[in-house]
Amino acid sequence: MSKRNYTNLNVNPCKMCMPMGGSLAFKGIEKSMIIIHGSQGCSTYIRRHIAAHYNEPVDIASSSLTEEGTVYGGSSNLKKGLKNLIRLYQPSVIGVLTTCLAETIGEDIQGIIREFILEEDLEDKVHIIPVSTPGYQATQYEGYYYALRQMVENLAEEVAHNEYINIVVSDVTCEDIRELKRIASFFSDKIIILPDISDTLDAPYTSEYSKLLSGGTKINKIKLMGGARATVEIGALIKDAYSPGKYLEETYGVPLYKISVPIGLEYVDEFIKALSQITHKTIPKELELERGRMLDGMIDSHKYNGEGVGAIFGSPELNLAISSLCIENGLTPKLVMTGSKSKKLKEIIEEKAKRFHMETIVLEDSDFSTLQPMVKQCGINILIGSSDGKFVKEKVKVPLIRVGFPIHDQIGAQRKLNVGYKGSLRLLDEMTNTLMDLKHDDYRDRMYDDYYTPLLKA
Ligand code: SF4
Repeated sequence: MSKRNYTNLNVNPCKMCMPMGGSLAFKGIEKSMIIIHGSQGCSTYIRRHIAAHYNEPVDIASSSLTEEGTVYGGSSNLKKGLKNLIRLYQPSVIGVLTTCLAETIGEDIQGIIREFILEEDLEDKVHIIPVSTPGYQATQYEGYYYALRQMVENLAEEVAHNEYINIVVSDVTCEDIRELKRIASFFSDKIIILPDISDTLDAPYTSEYSKLLSGGTKINKIKLMGGARATVEIGALIKDAYSPGKYLEETYGVPLYKISVPIGLEYVDEFIKALSQITHKTIPKELELERGRMLDGMIDSHKYNGEGVGAIFGSPELNLAISSLCIENGLTPKLVMTGSKSKKLKEIIEEKAKRFHMETIVLEDSDFSTLQPMVKQCGINILIGSSDGKFVKEKVKVPLIRVGFPIHDQIGAQRKLNVGYKGSLRLLDEMTNTLMDLKHDDYRDRMYDDYYTPLLKA
């Protein structure tokens, strides 16, 4: 019997599939709905993850491809699904996301949608946006940006120059988006946030159930993005082919500022400087005070963080920003792992770690079964990432700080603030306090072993 090669096999991968990211992007658009073209399981899996993370009802339709649709094509299933969805939800935008199955049988979703619009006479009544998101091609990270790019390609128009600043956000929390808006409002009241999940996935309680949650980026704002003053794209690592900001730059000449997630001093400064440069406004006193408070907090905690050796895992963008925060504060990000492929992530983190005389190992396209033994070998004492790391936490007994997506073993993920000076300081305090707890939890045992036992033996 020939020996199987497991070298490229992922066990418990540190990623989710492309339509997951695409769904998250569409959830930030006003009056939008999603239909996943494939088997029902794909949509159930995505719905379940999003609902558990945000603690909100999450509706995602499915074209429910069966054996027949798989063999003869799923056009009629998709059209039926779209018809039902429009009747029940009356959305303004529909994202049609493909799956492994739909892509493998070579479904022409663009063609099916064109036919459907003509048959149902829907031109100008609803925007139906096809996004090719085969689960096997990339991860939720690429799916998220690609869906945003497709929205912009389908909706942005050749418009006269306007005063708006486009801010394309990455996989941050609802509270983070509120904070990004607050910071941006110091520079301009004309901001387009794409996508804006701050209300749709963190909605206030109401006694009446609404099928489509209010909030999200308005379609007429996306249309204006082609005439904006600039695009600030939080996505330093995303490839051009997936980048909405790159499309706006190449098609409409909108200047593009590609930046990292504003976590940590360097990257928050970068975000604020970009806004200041675009608007020609000086940085306001209030933000300077917040920066000063963050510096003060960094001084308070620096003596504890030197003992921190971290393993960070999740999407490339969050990995980069959190590693940067750790490095700036003396906590060594010894292991950085992502399920995506990103050479740039490795280059940037290694270069920054070197500047601070730290050594770091960056694992791309990797999984938790690779990480787990390395946590022990590298003396990791703090894990930072999504709930998917909880099995490693249980096995190796190292505390886990939940950041990123998905978080389903705790509540409040959508309310955590991680960006800006305030959010960075909150996250830094959480990391420092976790390390302090570790020290306090076992210092009596360690003192006993290190001092008292040798004295007894002497
Ligand atoms: S990996 Fe493919 S089959 Fe699995 S949920 Fe994603 S799209 Fe569906």
